[in-house]
Amino acid sequence: MATIYCPNCGSPVMLRGDGWECGWCGDFGDISSLSRPEREKLRAELAAEVLEQGVVSIVEGVQARYGESDETLTLSCKLALYGMTEALIPEERQTPRNLHLLKAFFERHTFCTAAEVLGAAQSGEAAFGDMFSLTGERLGSFWAELPPEDLRGGWLDTVVDGLSAVEGVFTGEEGLKQRLLAILEDTRRRGHK
Ligand SMILES: [Zn+2]
Repeated sequence: MATIYCPNCGSPVMLRGDGWECGWCGDFGDISSLSRPEREKLRAELAAEVLEQGVVSIVEGVQARYGESDETLTLSCKLALYGMTEALIPEERQTPRNLHLLKAFFERHTFCTAAEVLGAAQSGEAAFGDMFSLTGERLGSFWAELPPEDLRGGWLDTVVDGLSAVEGVFTGEEGLKQRLLAILEDTRRRGHK
């Protein structure tokens, strides 16, 4: 947790829901009453949590379907890397904020480095796109080869939830999960023909 300081006396404050409270001077208020750098710290921390949770969801979903093993963990990591690189391909998304988020993540999880992810994004091709591409234009083998019954599985919902969090934290796109699920739904329908 980032330490947030009291706008009144400068002591570390306690955070509760949408508010803060200073144990030292007794001052309290909404998050909006904190100074701007403090609010930015909180926002950055929130983004880091969303990214972390997104990757956890991907791992959980993949393991729920394929079991816990080194292979499924590697598969999950690749899917997470796909999401990150796909999100960061447009140059305007390679912002200091996003690069900081990426760097902080790979300082904790060393299965890859921020520089490698950025390098892949700058090449213009999402990492492992042949497996995991999930766009209207291109469907990777991972999705394309799922049996129809798998496209309704709860595990898939968890995976897509995670993937949309991983991509969305960099793109800021809302409703990404619905869009990804719609692409998969479309696949399912075509598969039934
Ligand atoms: Zn205070």
